[in-house]
Amino acid sequence: MIAVLLFIILFLGGFILFGLNMRKIRRNVMLGRSYKVDGPAGERLKTMILVAFGQQKMFSRPIPAILHLFLYVAFVITQIELIEIIVDGVSGSHRFFSSSLGGFYTFVISFIEILSVLAFIGTIAFLFRRNIVKLARFQSPEMKGWPFKDANFILFGEITLICFIFMMNGADSVKSDTGFIISSNIGPALFGGMSDSALHSIERIGWWGHLVMVLAFLNYLPFSKHLHILLGFPNTYYSNLNKKGKFTTLESVTDVVAPNFDPSYVPKTDPNNPIRFGAKDVQDLTWKNLLDAYTCTECGRCTSACPQNQTGKKLSPRKIMMDTRDRVEEVGKNIDKNKGVFVDDGKSLLDLISKEEIWACNTCNACVQECPVNIDPLAIIIELRRYLVMEESQSPNELNTMFSNVENNGAPWQFAQSDRANWINEN
Ligand code: SF4
Ligand code: SF4
Repeated sequence: MIAVLLFIILFLGGFILFGLNMRKIRRNVMLGRSYKVDGPAGERLKTMILVAFGQQKMFSRPIPAILHLFLYVAFVITQIELIEIIVDGVSGSHRFFSSSLGGFYTFVISFIEILSVLAFIGTIAFLFRRNIVKLARFQSPEMKGWPFKDANFILFGEITLICFIFMMNGADSVKSDTGFIISSNIGPALFGGMSDSALHSIERIGWWGHLVMVLAFLNYLPFSKHLHILLGFPNTYYSNLNKKGKFTTLESVTDVVAPNFDPSYVPKTDPNNPIRFGAKDVQDLTWKNLLDAYTCTECGRCTSACPQNQTGKKLSPRKIMMDTRDRVEEVGKNIDKNKGVFVDDGKSLLDLISKEEIWACNTCNACVQECPVNIDPLAIIIELRRYLVMEESQSPNELNTMFSNVENNGAPWQFAQSDRANWINEN
């Protein structure tokens, strides 16, 4: 009875805490401006199934894709085992489904065990790549400190989780021949000859340990890049389905210019609440930009594909996403501290992302193409540029020349319109 009560308290407590933290993240994402969702729902669903569920874009790099697939499939399928843990926890039973499902139960648990071993191999390989091989994309400046530890924490957590599964199944396999494909072999090797009470204790440590790790993992997600395992799905659903390179127009600019040409034009933005041209801070970005930031897996594929980063420029699209997430978190904490109202802290996203980074981008879209969860770092860069140009008049000299040429000559070049066709007479 005490065990059932403890389970219910732990389980409900874990999920309530998770729900509260996720509510804060939703609030933070919704600090962004509205986002026009283009494209039919069917197309969006297809994108989500292919990119998030099917891991389509991961396979541009087969080795990490296969390793990641081990972890991903194991994560999804082991939820079946979690269902039984919940039923057992609430009812005080042990392996509730085993008697009713018989051989099929043995098959399912065996399948989970195989996936768990593959996930174990994948986890060790990922730890090896990060910590021993020191893969270049995990050594960038933005990956120092917490982001590096965060990745390792989760990998060690997964190893612990898998060990608990095998403690639980292994001890049971010694007590009664379960027939589970892996634990019925390693169980006797590790725990063979132990007393019934010792086996019972090992099984209980595995069971409770597994449960506690699941709840700890769940509550760690809102503070980690691993939130992508949940947000990857909505984020790909709301992907920008327009052709890459198609820029949005600013309604706030259209509202200023259009009435000069069309007196019947009805403004789309609220004149009493003028919108900033471009983005200075996270509240000026769209909620999709902010959802992107929370979804970023910090894999660095965007940065390693970025030509400007490769040629040594101070630009990493991954850092753009991490900075955006850091700032929106900071704004969220400010709101919490000030009873639901944001009090100007004199800071902005531009304190984290420098002008050098913003202007280094050549808008090639390689980062957007590479991202396995359809994140668009370029959209944020463009909004920051818009702010710098339109509100701060802080554009590089090369652009200032181009702007005045467009204004005076109707073209980016320094020729009068009347001279445009002179090339015809050149020999
Ligand atoms: S769009 Fe900009 S940030 Fe993205 S890959 Fe190209 S240069 Fe790098
Ligand atoms: S933006 Fe995409 S590609 Fe870049 S680090 Fe984040 S998840 Fe990876």
